[in-house]
Amino acid sequence: MIIAKTIKEVREYVKKWRGEGQSIGLVPTMGYLHDGHASLVDKARSECGKVVVSDFVNPTQFSPNEDLQSYPRDFEHDCKLLEEHGCDLVFYPSVEEMYEPNAATYVEILDEMPKQLCGKTRPIHFRGVCTVVSKLFNIVQPDKAFFGQKDAQQLAIIRRMVKEMSYGIEIIGCPIVRESDGLAKSSRNTYLNAEERKAALVLSKAVFRGEELVKSGVIDSEKVLSEMRAIITAEPLAKIDYVSAVDGVTMQPVTEITNGVLVAMAVYIGKTRLIDNFIAGGLK
Ligand code: AMP
Repeated sequence: MIIAKTIKEVREYVKKWRGEGQSIGLVPTMGYLHDGHASLVDKARSECGKVVVSDFVNPTQFSPNEDLQSYPRDFEHDCKLLEEHGCDLVFYPSVEEMYEPNAATYVEILDEMPKQLCGKTRPIHFRGVCTVVSKLFNIVQPDKAFFGQKDAQQLAIIRRMVKEMSYGIEIIGCPIVRESDGLAKSSRNTYLNAEERKAALVLSKAVFRGEELVKSGVIDSEKVLSEMRAIITAEPLAKIDYVSAVDGVTMQPVTEITNGVLVAMAVYIGKTRLIDNFIAGGLK
């Protein structure tokens, strides 16, 4: 597996592979990789000739009060996992490599979409995500890029950005990978102590209950959301940021949970903010 730290190196390898007629798949990550990330690499491996994974904790998507400094990092472990899953090249740039000093060019969706859900408490988050993903698309120029449903709002925003900015890249959404007890895998799960780890199960419990209600034919979103909220608020260590039902494309709130509706939540367990969701009728 090639470890590339510069944009120039990535471009050279990609050019060579293109010359050989290979298709390229990109999996953007912030590292501290787990089975959720691995599932994206496996999917890319099965659909593309060459697989590029970026491993970069992107500072522009963190607000000053967030966990940029403490975000977990373990590049050696990441390389091991990536090698095992057949990644061809890991792009591991420094912040200086990715951002010009005083960089002030951003890619941003300017309507309500990035202000919904996670955007309410993370106002600059999706601007940072769109900017870095856009840069990665320009650097790697992949045929396909793979994103997890775990970050469903991000997936919807990237799909829209690709459409509106005319990137000729196919965006592939991949299902949520969970721990055996249900907790959605996340690099941030490492912040949880033993007591919090147990408490964190209220997220998946609420997701599973919500999904069950919808499958049984309940479509009134307030009915579904209030049952989900009750599961979460019963846990003293949990504090709801949001539990919402939105249109899966526009992220606008809906009153009925029909196919394609995203039911998403962000919940603080102690100081750790975790997210989870389901899509009525499944991910398309
Ligand atoms: P991150 O490193 O957290 O920025 O995530 C990188 C990519 O992996 C994003 O597309 C995430 O949605 C995806 N991802 C993270 N956790 C999971 C998971 N548990 N299951 C599936 N995909 C995931």
